Amino acid sequence: MRAYAQVADSKGKKQPSPYAHTLKLPKTAFPLRADAVNREKQFRERCTDQLYPWQLKNNPGAQFVLHDGPPYANGDLHIGHFMNKVLKDIVNRYQVMQGRRVLYFPGWDLHGLPIEHKALEALKGRDRDSLDPMEIRTLARKFGLKAVDKQKKGFREWGIMGDWEDPYLTLHPEYEANQLEIFKSMLAKGYIYRQNKPVYWSPSSRTALAEAELEYKDDHVSTSAYVKFPLNQESAQRLGVSGGVSALIWTTTPWTLPANSAIYVHPELDYALVRVSGGGEPASTMLVGKDRLEKIASLLPPESNVEVVREFKGADLDGLVYNSVLRGKECKIMLADYVSADSGTGLVHSAPGHGKEDYEAGLANGLEVYSPVDDHGRFTSDAGSGLEGLEVLGDGASKVIEMLGEQNVLLHSDKFVHSYPYDWRTKQPIIQRATPQWFANIKNLKQAAWDSVKDVQIVPEAGRRRLEAFVTGRSEWCISRQRVWGVPIPALYNARTGEPLMTVESIDHIISVFRANGGSNSWWTLPVEEFLLPEYRSSGETYVRGSDTMDVWFDSGSSWKLLEKRAEPREGPYADVYLEGSDQHRGWFQSSLLTSTAVRGVSPYKTLVTHGFTLDEQGRKMSKSIGNTLAPSFVISGGKDKKKDPAYGVDLLRLLIGSTDYTQDVSFGPTVFSSFSDTIRKIRNTTRFMLGNLDGFTKDMEVPYEQLQPIDRYVLHELHHFKQRARKAFDKHEFFRAMQALNNFTNSTLSAFYFDVCKDRLYADAVADLSRRSVQTVLYKILVNYTTTLAPVTCHLAEEIWEFSEPVRGSNGGEFSVFQQKWDQTDAAWDDAVLAEEWAGLKKVRSLANRAIEAARQDKVIGSSLEAELDIYVALDSRLGRLLAQYADSLRQTSITSQVRVHDASQLPAGPAEFVETDEIAFGGEATKVTAVCQRSSLHKCPRCWNLHSTEPEALCRRCDEVVGKL
Ligand SMILES: [Zn+2]
Repeated sequence: MRAYAQVADSKGKKQPSPYAHTLKLPKTAFPLRADAVNREKQFRERCTDQLYPWQLKNNPGAQFVLHDGPPYANGDLHIGHFMNKVLKDIVNRYQVMQGRRVLYFPGWDLHGLPIEHKALEALKGRDRDSLDPMEIRTLARKFGLKAVDKQKKGFREWGIMGDWEDPYLTLHPEYEANQLEIFKSMLAKGYIYRQNKPVYWSPSSRTALAEAELEYKDDHVSTSAYVKFPLNQESAQRLGVSGGVSALIWTTTPWTLPANSAIYVHPELDYALVRVSGGGEPASTMLVGKDRLEKIASLLPPESNVEVVREFKGADLDGLVYNSVLRGKECKIMLADYVSADSGTGLVHSAPGHGKEDYEAGLANGLEVYSPVDDHGRFTSDAGSGLEGLEVLGDGASKVIEMLGEQNVLLHSDKFVHSYPYDWRTKQPIIQRATPQWFANIKNLKQAAWDSVKDVQIVPEAGRRRLEAFVTGRSEWCISRQRVWGVPIPALYNARTGEPLMTVESIDHIISVFRANGGSNSWWTLPVEEFLLPEYRSSGETYVRGSDTMDVWFDSGSSWKLLEKRAEPREGPYADVYLEGSDQHRGWFQSSLLTSTAVRGVSPYKTLVTHGFTLDEQGRKMSKSIGNTLAPSFVISGGKDKKKDPAYGVDLLRLLIGSTDYTQDVSFGPTVFSSFSDTIRKIRNTTRFMLGNLDGFTKDMEVPYEQLQPIDRYVLHELHHFKQRARKAFDKHEFFRAMQALNNFTNSTLSAFYFDVCKDRLYADAVADLSRRSVQTVLYKILVNYTTTLAPVTCHLAEEIWEFSEPVRGSNGGEFSVFQQKWDQTDAAWDDAVLAEEWAGLKKVRSLANRAIEAARQDKVIGSSLEAELDIYVALDSRLGRLLAQYADSLRQTSITSQVRVHDASQLPAGPAEFVETDEIAFGGEATKVTAVCQRSSLHKCPRCWNLHSTEPEALCRRCDEVVGKL
C-alpha cells in the first residue's frame, strides 16, 4: 500500500494528511469477509432455478446436453457426490456463458440390491421366501424415493443448475418403458439369448452377478486338494500297467468335485506314470505332468520312494476312463489347449457347471452342464446324501475333503491363499454356478461398440484404454437377476415345457400393459393372461411369468433413450458429455455404450470425462469402512465448534474442485480447506480493490482504447492473453488450468504490478481526468473478465461481485445474473505483440532500476521508492534506447519513483557513483547496455500525493495543485 493510503487508514496513529479528503480512495460495500453460509443463499436462486429456464429459452446457441449419470438413491451424500455434481455444473455453466442452451436434468438409479436389502432389513424376522414381492417392492420404492428427496435437497444446496423439477428416476413408468424398448430392439437384432451356463452367483444375495459387480479379494483362503481319480481296468492296461492307476488332479474349489465331468490334459505336454512307495503308505501308481513331479514329490511323506515307470505325451491319454469318485460316474480324460504345466498337476479337473472355461470346453466335447448347487449356495440332493444341504463355501467343502480322505483318494490338502471374487455389495465370496439366465451377446457387439468410441473425445485420454479393456475383456453380459426390486425381464414361460415366450410382439404387448397400469408393478399384480397376446391366450397352453429382473446396469445404461424425447433431435451421439468417476468405465459408461451401439449403432456420448476418487489428507481413499468419509454439509456449514471446524461455504469446495486436476484422485481435509479459504480471501481482496476504485465510475466515462495510456493497453493485452489461456483450458475441461491462469494473472499482473502502479493516478488524479478514467476503464474490463472466469466455478461469489458492480455497468433491463453475460469479454484488438515486447523490455529495465533503488534504501538514503529519482543511461540510437526515451514516464510509474530521466550512454558520468546498476538487456534482437543510477530527489514531497515533485517544502505539486484547485 502506498503511504498516503495508510494516512487515511491509520486512525490517528499518524497525523492525518490535511488533503486526505481530497484524495479519491477506494470505496466499496463489498465485504472482505465471505460469510458464505449467510451470503451464498442470497445469490443461489438467480443462478440456478431462475437461470436454468431462462438460458434454455433465451440463449442464442445450439443445445448442449450433459447427460447426468444417475447416482444410486441410497445413503447420505459424500464428498464424492459433490465432486461429481460440481464438475458437471462447471461444464454446464461455462456452456451457458458460451451462449449454448444447456439441457441438464438430473437422474437417480433406484432399482437393485442395496435398496432391496434395506427393504428386507425392515421386514427382518420374516422368511424371504414367504414374502410377497409387492411387499418388498413397495418398501423399496419408499426407501428409494425418500433418499431421492434427501439427496436432491443436498445437490440443490451446492448451487447445481438443472431441471430439478423434472429429474429422471429409473422407476418411472416411462423410464421402464424406454428400457424395455431397448431390450426389445436388442432382442430383435439377436443380441439377447437365454442359456443354462455358469454365471457368477452370490449365495449371500441369492442372485447372479455381472463381472462389474465383483470385487477381487487378494487374501481369500481356499482349501486346495490333490485328488486321485482311479482309472478303470481297461484304461490302466492301455498305459501298460495291470491295475491301481490314478489320475492326479489339483483344485482350489474341492466343492466342485461332485460335479466333475472330465479331466483335461494338454496334447503336447509330457506326462509321467509314477510309482510311489514307502513313507508308511501303501504303494500306488499315479499319472502326473512330468514338469510337476518335483512339486508333487515334495507333498509326499518323508522317505517316500518315487519312481517314473513310463512317460507319455498328453495326446496318448485321450479317452482314458476314470471314476469320478464323489459323483460315482465314469468320465473321460480329454485334450484341451488351455492346460498348462505351470501349476497343479498338469491334469485339470473340469466341472462345466461351475466355470466358464470348463463350460466352453464341455460344450466342445458335448458334456452335460451339471451343477448340484442351489440358490443358497448349498449342495442339492443330486450331490449325494452326505452333502445335501451343506454350504459349498462352508461345511460342504470340508465334508468333501473328509469324504475324499475316507475313500483314500486324497493325496494332500492344505490352505491356499489367492485372489478370489466377492460380491461387491455384500462383501461375501461368490461361486460359479450354472443356471438358466438371460444374456446380452457382447461378442457380436464389442467391435461395433469399440468402433463407435473411436470418435469419442475421452478426458483424460488414458481412459480410452480402460474402457477398451473393459469392453473387449468380456464376451457376454448376464442381464437377469433373481431379485424382485427391478424391471422384470419380459419373459413368459410355457408351463408345460418351460420354453420361454419372448418376441418383439410379446414385449410390445407387455410394454403397453405396463404403460396402461402405472408401470412394472403390474407384472406382480395383474393376472398372467393380461401379458399374453390373444393368440397365446387361446392356444390351449398355459404360461407363467418369469420372476427375473434386469441387471441395474441395464436400467441406467438405458437412460440415453430419454434424450429422444427431451433433447433436440440429433443424428450422432445424443449427449455432448457424460462425466462420471473412473469406476464407470466398467459400469455406466460401458452399459450405456453397449445398449446405444446395439440399438442405434453409435456411442451415446461425444465426450467422456472421468474424474478420480476422493482421498483424505493422509492420501487414503475415503470409504465408509475406514470411517474417513466427509459430508459436504460439514465443510459447508461447519461443525459444532466453529473455531475448529469453520463454515467454509459451498464456493470454497467448488473452488477446490475447480482448481484441482480431477483426473487424479483429489485430497480433502482441513489443511486444503484453510488454504482455499486464503485463496477466497485473496479473490475478495482483489475484487474489493477493483470495485473500490470503480466507485463513481460509469460506462459513459470509459476511455476509448486508442486513448488509453500504454501501460493500460499493456494490461489489456495481458488480460486478453490470460482469458485465451483460460478459455482453452475450459474448452478442454481442464478447469484447474483456467484457475491457474487466473491466479497467475492476479498475482503477477495485478497484485505485483498494475494495482501498485496505478494507485497514484487513481487516488490523486482528478475524477474527470483522462488518466484516471483510463485506469478505471481497464479495471472495469478486468473486473468483468475476472468475474466471468470465476463464475462457472464459484457461482455464488461471481453473482455477489456482479451485484456490487451494478452501479458501474448500470441496470440492464431485466438482467438478473452474471450468467447472462458472455464468458469472454476481451477484444482481439487488445492483442498487441509490439506493446507486449516493449513491456517485456521495460520490465527488465525496471528490475535493474529496482536493484539500484533497493541499494539506496538499504543505505537509508531514501525511505520509500517515491523519494528516489532515476537516471538511465543507454545508447539512444539502440532500440531499447528509443523505447526508454519514449516510455520514461511509464518507467517512472512502474518503478514508483518520482522522476526518471533517460540519457545517452555517452553521458554517463565518469567516476564512482553510489547506487548504480548496469546490465546487458536483450530487446528487439539486440543486447544493450543499460545503467540505472538512483539518488534521492532534490525536490520536495508533495503533502497530498507524496511524490517528490514539489519545488518548495510542504507545497503541493503542480498536479495536486490543479486537482485541489478545481475542487
Ligand atoms: Zn502531489
